[in-house]
Amino acid sequence: MQKLVILGSAQDGGVPHIGCACSHCQQARHDPAAVRMAPSLGIIDLEADKAFVIDASPHLPDQLYRLRSRRGREESPFLPDAIFLTHAHIGHYLGLAYLGKEGWNTQALPLYCTAEMESFLRHNKPFRYLLEQGNVCCHRLLPHQRHPLTPALSLLPVEVPHRNEDANTLAYVIQGRTLSVLYMPDLDYYTEAVLALIREVDIAIIDGTFFSGSELPAMRMAGVPHPPVVESLARLEGIQTRIIFTHLNHTNPLLDPAHPAWQRVSAAGFAVAKEGEEIEI
Ligand SMILES: [Zn+2]
Ligand SMILES: [Zn+2]
Ligand SMILES: [Zn+2]
Repeated sequence: MQKLVILGSAQDGGVPHIGCACSHCQQARHDPAAVRMAPSLGIIDLEADKAFVIDASPHLPDQLYRLRSRRGREESPFLPDAIFLTHAHIGHYLGLAYLGKEGWNTQALPLYCTAEMESFLRHNKPFRYLLEQGNVCCHRLLPHQRHPLTPALSLLPVEVPHRNEDANTLAYVIQGRTLSVLYMPDLDYYTEAVLALIREVDIAIIDGTFFSGSELPAMRMAGVPHPPVVESLARLEGIQTRIIFTHLNHTNPLLDPAHPAWQRVSAAGFAVAKEGEEIEI
């Protein structure tokens, strides 16, 4: 059996968010069930006894424990067989630092990313040390070139529009035996190519950072141009693909299943990612 596991479903800063006393953040400080970790997706093939992780978030230590607990064997390793990166924003790569000497001190753990992302890691400490010390072994991914994971699973990296200050941004299509799933935690705006990609897959786990355009002061909102969920609902209305929103900012009312926003998404036939949720593929 092959499955995906939502290892983290918050925007990069997580919930609770640093320095924030909003009701979502306060609730998450008191109720572990309300905590959402930074974005990450686990991929598990129980037949091949292999596991992979998309992105190395600052919550990587907890997320690897969550991944292992879903592998079904007491003696399963904590370490995934490889890590695949989407891009150079803190919620997606800071966790790599735990693989170095002060942490796990891994040996040649396969790390897959674009040439631009590799160059970013190679030129910035402490990530440079991971490459120099051989903690990770970097492999370059070419967009649109399918990468086999196991006999039953493969991964297709696709470049998507996002703030690319330091490197380009990938989404991934995971092809299982029965289903194909798009994982696209960050997106700045929809293009025809992105919409076609969403239509082509069975399930799309996509950027749901903000529910609407009024969650942050206008100045700050302009600096982080994610399409709000209300726009996605309009653009994707009637689509056959099962849509799951992830990468939720701590301000997002979708964090609260009792909020009318959540009911609106649910009534439209879409879903909100749950921490630890499994999707058989
Ligand atoms: Zn992000
Ligand atoms: Zn908050
Ligand atoms: Zn980002």
